[in-house]
Amino acid sequence: MGLRGGPRSFLQVFIPPGSARAPADECSARRRPLVQIHAVTDAAAGRVEQRSDADGRRGLYASEAIAAGEVVAWVRGIPRSRPGRFSLQLGHDLHMDDLGAVESTNHSCAPSAYVDLAGAEACLRALRDLRLGDEVTIDYCATEDRMDAPFDCQCGTVGCYGWIAGYAALGAPHRVALAGRLAPHLREKYGAPSGG
Ligand SMILES: [Zn+2]
Repeated sequence: MGLRGGPRSFLQVFIPPGSARAPADECSARRRPLVQIHAVTDAAAGRVEQRSDADGRRGLYASEAIAAGEVVAWVRGIPRSRPGRFSLQLGHDLHMDDLGAVESTNHSCAPSAYVDLAGAEACLRALRDLRLGDEVTIDYCATEDRMDAPFDCQCGTVGCYGWIAGYAALGAPHRVALAGRLAPHLREKYGAPSGG
């Protein structure tokens, strides 16, 4: 089974015109699509910007105040059928890659944003009021089933999951904790966490 079809075919929705990579050796084909690629990247960045801290750790930060419930950035990229190191899972066999600035969004077990898949286009939406300069974080385990590159979480929050490998690897207490922001494809696959 490949990508899901239906009223919101992700393949149709998520490939912006010109986002496909242009042949590098053909000037006429390259010039026009590249302009659109930059436009898509800018649009995806939205109200946020990518920054690196002193240790070289990349992250996504609010470039203006964003109220709880508002769109932080649109999720636009190239759809893949398998997860990659920086991809974001939007469906059962749908992993968006090449996400522009959104790709630098770090994980937190107490995130400031979540991936909203309810609309025609996926977006990051604020879970709380963000001030200028606040880091935008999401809970990777709320969208990723089995991650390509698991890691040991250092977020330091109460209730930190520890090992971040995707929803499949989470214990029941942690599944209950994130139930409110669990992506539809994981809820369909695993059902609602008991007690959540
Ligand atoms: Zn953590």
